[in-house]
Amino acid sequence: MWHDLEQRQPRVVHSILHAIAAGRVPHAWLFTGEPGSGLEAAALRLGAALNCPENPGVGCGVCRFCRGWLKREHYDLNWVTPSSKSRIITMDQIHEVIHWVGISPSGGGKRLVVVDQAERMGNDACNAFLKTLEEPPSHAVMVLITASPQLLLDTIRSRCVRLRFIPPTAAGCAVPEGIAPMIASLASMGRGPELSFRFSALVGKALVQIREETEERLAPLLERGLETLGEGFRVADQKKVEQEHKDLVESEYRHSRGALIEQLFFWFRDVYLVGRSMDAGLLHYTADASRVQDAAARISPKMAMACMDELERLRGQWDRSVREDVSTELAALRMFVSPSARN
Ligand SMILES: [Zn+2]
Repeated sequence: MWHDLEQRQPRVVHSILHAIAAGRVPHAWLFTGEPGSGLEAAALRLGAALNCPENPGVGCGVCRFCRGWLKREHYDLNWVTPSSKSRIITMDQIHEVIHWVGISPSGGGKRLVVVDQAERMGNDACNAFLKTLEEPPSHAVMVLITASPQLLLDTIRSRCVRLRFIPPTAAGCAVPEGIAPMIASLASMGRGPELSFRFSALVGKALVQIREETEERLAPLLERGLETLGEGFRVADQKKVEQEHKDLVESEYRHSRGALIEQLFFWFRDVYLVGRSMDAGLLHYTADASRVQDAAARISPKMAMACMDELERLRGQWDRSVREDVSTELAALRMFVSPSARN
């Protein structure tokens, strides 16, 4: 039941199944990613896994219950989407959900609320939802789905365990040319401390390249901005134009930096897929398939998974403005040297 999704989103599937197996299913999840990356499929499979009597905790995919879940037709599933007219998830809808979630599940399993396009909850709907999100009945699990998590209130985000889905294809990852071959070269980078050192050097080099490319690409915008000031402009106006440009460069840089993480995700996903002997047609670094094979001989699926977890953590640290070089080096050590990452 999970196989298809695991090929595309190994880390997500691992996190979900691991949480269930450990008996630590978060009562509120936040699934974030682009449309087409498997967000809905993951939510439905989660519901099936939590309710399947044949293969509890995983789901069999074929019993009456699983089929209902996978078709999005189950008594214990409440799928909330923006109402067709206003494109907003209204407070009435949320009140209905809060009432619904209080009712016991039909079997011994869980009730699942999925809020699709959660960013479309209005502020009043969010506030009404907060308490339930924080302390839902023990038989309930909430999944919020969104492509734009930055539009959610902090208070909502902080109450959920977030799972990021990698994009359906790498096409949307706007990183400069030359980065992909650089990443593919990871295959020949030894192991242990050597690999760790080379990995952080590679990321550092990629970041410099992204910074330079971004500045170069946007430089004409600054020139144009300054030209519009005309003759006899005030210094304050010039400073303002320059500051705005600086902010733009920074935000573009951060965007591309996130795309670099996505590319690295794809690489470790490839290594994982090869290690698990999965469909080679899904590989992203197809031009470097033999090098991915080499890497998979040294990096076990378990280690590739741990690396993806580390990348996620690294992205979070960058977002919180932890120093890039220091955080990257520590992440690399944890990925390739620390005992927990070894198989
Ligand atoms: Zn089943």
